[in-house]
Amino acid sequence: MARLARFSDEGQIHYGLLRDNDTLQVIQGDILREWQETERFVKLEQVTLLAPVAPPNVIAIGLNYRAHAIESDMPLPERPVIFFKITTAVCGPNDPIVLPRMAPDEVDYECELAIIIGKEAKHVTKADAHDYVLGYTCSNDVSARDCQIRLDAQWARGKSFDTFAPLGPWIETELDPDNVGIRTRLNGRTMQDSNTNDLIFDTRTLISYLSDAMTLLPGTVIMTGTPSGVGFARKPPVFLRDGDVVEIEVDGIGTLRNPVVAET
Ligand code: MG
Repeated sequence: MARLARFSDEGQIHYGLLRDNDTLQVIQGDILREWQETERFVKLEQVTLLAPVAPPNVIAIGLNYRAHAIESDMPLPERPVIFFKITTAVCGPNDPIVLPRMAPDEVDYECELAIIIGKEAKHVTKADAHDYVLGYTCSNDVSARDCQIRLDAQWARGKSFDTFAPLGPWIETELDPDNVGIRTRLNGRTMQDSNTNDLIFDTRTLISYLSDAMTLLPGTVIMTGTPSGVGFARKPPVFLRDGDVVEIEVDGIGTLRNPVVAET
């Protein structure tokens, strides 16, 4: 089992292997190409964890859990619903999710298992799909629902404000992605609690389907969709507010924690 983290230490960006939950063994090289362990160790608490990858693309899947499609009042999709989040929306563990000045009122959380592609993939079969995966991390498909649902004809703005794609805390390379618990806590209260075994299109299907359409470059992030319990579908709705703390937890990976702040 390997956990790959990306971190900054005195202004330099490094990759490291998590050891004993509190130490990083520094890696030389690029986790998407050639790398090797060094004999340098740093304490986790002394560095700043970053998003574990700087992705060339962030692909996201909508309505991929049965219960979430139903709560969203949408029919179950016959094929994956694909959209994109712009890479400037990516942020890391403990980075603030910023409520944008132009749309601060209906910002919502979505816990998602994120696939990290490890090598270039095109026309990959379902059987071979996992050979192209580096690992998995936690992600939050933060969404401004007013833009996404009412104001805009598509989802690009509502899903791509700065900080709307938190990733982390690290990449877990050994995981059964088709049977892991996934949940969201908002200020400690559980809001979403499901398992990836409820995915309509599983990780192999998504990688194969996407790779038939577009080249998946190393480092590409695929957010696989969110289960039920999102804020906008609640009665009354729950949206993120200045001072909140959102935690996305995937069993076998860890917890991605982000505070929420208003844009100043
Ligand atoms: Mg989503």
